Amino acid sequence: MTREVYVLDTSAVIAGFVPSIIEVRQVTVQEVLNEAKDLYSKLELETAADAGKILVMEPSEEALSEVGKKVSQTGDQVSNTDIKLLALSLDMLRAGDEPKLITDDYAIQNLASMFGIPFRRVVMRGITEVFTWQMVCPACGKLYSVKRVECEACGSRLVRKPAKQFK
Ligand SMILES: [Zn+2]
Repeated sequence: MTREVYVLDTSAVIAGFVPSIIEVRQVTVQEVLNEAKDLYSKLELETAADAGKILVMEPSEEALSEVGKKVSQTGDQVSNTDIKLLALSLDMLRAGDEPKLITDDYAIQNLASMFGIPFRRVVMRGITEVFTWQMVCPACGKLYSVKRVECEACGSRLVRKPAKQFK
């Protein structure tokens, strides 16, 4: 069994990370569940927690104070919840697990890097930045790498489609 585990922060949950369809083990802290309470994701998150897909854990005091110390050094703007998620990731890393912190928050990513904690951005559906685009003619299938409105071969209105997804 893989020791990979996703550590979910609130931004991951807000961005539509769907816990119930992910096979990897997932953990978070109670504060994330609390922060998500008034969001549309509440139901999904609680359902996943109830079904045992997400484990709610507490970081060690040791890891907490270690992360807290680093935060006060760097001056990164992170919440208490963020500190707990980083500390939890650190605990798991030291226990021999392979945590991936799932977050879109740059301050958290920055701190995760300092501790050698791998992180992953949430890939949001419909966000254009993660794709390169090309134009395609729906009538004759001609592809264009530049943005244009009409097909130069048949005059049809071009549609946009993703060419490739960045890692
Ligand atoms: Zn065409």
